[in-house]
Amino acid sequence: TWESVPLAPPDSIFNLIAAFAADPTPHKVNLSVGAYRDNDGKPWVLPVVKKATQLLLNNPTLDHEYLSIIGLPAFTSAAAKLILAPDAPAITEGRVVSVQTISGTGANHLGALFLSRFYQFNGNKQVYLSKPTWVNHYAVFKNVGITPVEYPYFDPRTLGVDFDGFKSALVDAPTRSIVLMHACAHNPTGVDPSREQWEEIANIILSKGHFAFFDSAYQGFASGDLNNDAWAVRHFANKGVPLLICQSFAKNAGLYGERVGALHVIAPTSEAAKRIRSQLSVLQRSEISNPPAHGARLMSLILNDPKLFEEWDRDIKTMAHRIISMREQLYKLLTEEFKTPGNWEHITKQIGMFSFTGLNQQQSLALVEKAHIYLTNNGRISMAGLNTHNIRYVAECLDKVVRG
Ligand code: PMP
Repeated sequence: TWESVPLAPPDSIFNLIAAFAADPTPHKVNLSVGAYRDNDGKPWVLPVVKKATQLLLNNPTLDHEYLSIIGLPAFTSAAAKLILAPDAPAITEGRVVSVQTISGTGANHLGALFLSRFYQFNGNKQVYLSKPTWVNHYAVFKNVGITPVEYPYFDPRTLGVDFDGFKSALVDAPTRSIVLMHACAHNPTGVDPSREQWEEIANIILSKGHFAFFDSAYQGFASGDLNNDAWAVRHFANKGVPLLICQSFAKNAGLYGERVGALHVIAPTSEAAKRIRSQLSVLQRSEISNPPAHGARLMSLILNDPKLFEEWDRDIKTMAHRIISMREQLYKLLTEEFKTPGNWEHITKQIGMFSFTGLNQQQSLALVEKAHIYLTNNGRISMAGLNTHNIRYVAECLDKVVRG
């Protein structure tokens, strides 16, 4: 038994995190992990989450019974309003099916599984992924028998969106193709389409009868404004593009390990919503039976209490604005202080947790090996790993590897 099981390579990101932890160098810097850190490089428990946790603990009726198969309704309905807007027609018309999932990854999985079972594929069972994308998207779709194919997204020359390439791929794709898009703060590039570009994309997707698979892992993180970051999803929904949304509260509420998320499928009618809900329940039952309660209870308190919601909004701004300020400081150091060769405007133009620096594999590896600055070898850095104590060192080392 098991002789035929090949050894799998370790996960590249989790591998880097382990290497960072084992590195005894005091001035080491972790720019690999997609998790927020405060200005001292420490994980940040949002003050509003601390408050909500206290409220939960003080509730004498709190128990540890199972949630229902599709999760905590007070959480999922508030989560749908957060991404779609409270007065979204799909919500008021009862066309949104919301299922609580194991954070964003679980939402991607359940969404992909549902499509693999019930979507009327036109020919091959495939999904269009942006090139590049969050690496896990490939495995999530392959696991359910859907083949990933890529659409051009990032232009290495401009370090911005390859809009023409993106549009042509959508036009050339067979009708009714599934297209995965990042709702905001694209991972790993930090590059999002502009509103005008989103409008054009929505028009093409609608005219080709494509299905929009939105992955929303960073609402609030991109601009510091929850509504602003939901703009693309809301635009597509209002246009009537058939879509689903995978929603994560890992980053915007700092609830990484609690696995709080939801899958929202917009149906054409409330009657179709009922059928879709019933099938998602069947799938969920066999996969996880029912989702975990703690994080959903926390988020439910925060989303449904106006005072707590306001506080959450402020906490999100604290995180987003610190990241934006790190972008500005890094840009300033590179251009004004070190006069590093090249154009660095993308550092401030790109948004969200990550930045594609434009460093090549060799330069990225040199930063890890020589400077103890940990980043993935595609040149992606997590802006959240920068702080006022290490940014000068990082800029100086970046300058050195660029000069070679
Ligand atoms: N989608 C994208 C684009 C992500 O970057 C992430 C987190 N790295 C996720 C989904 C899933 O995260 P989680 O399962 O922790 O919510």
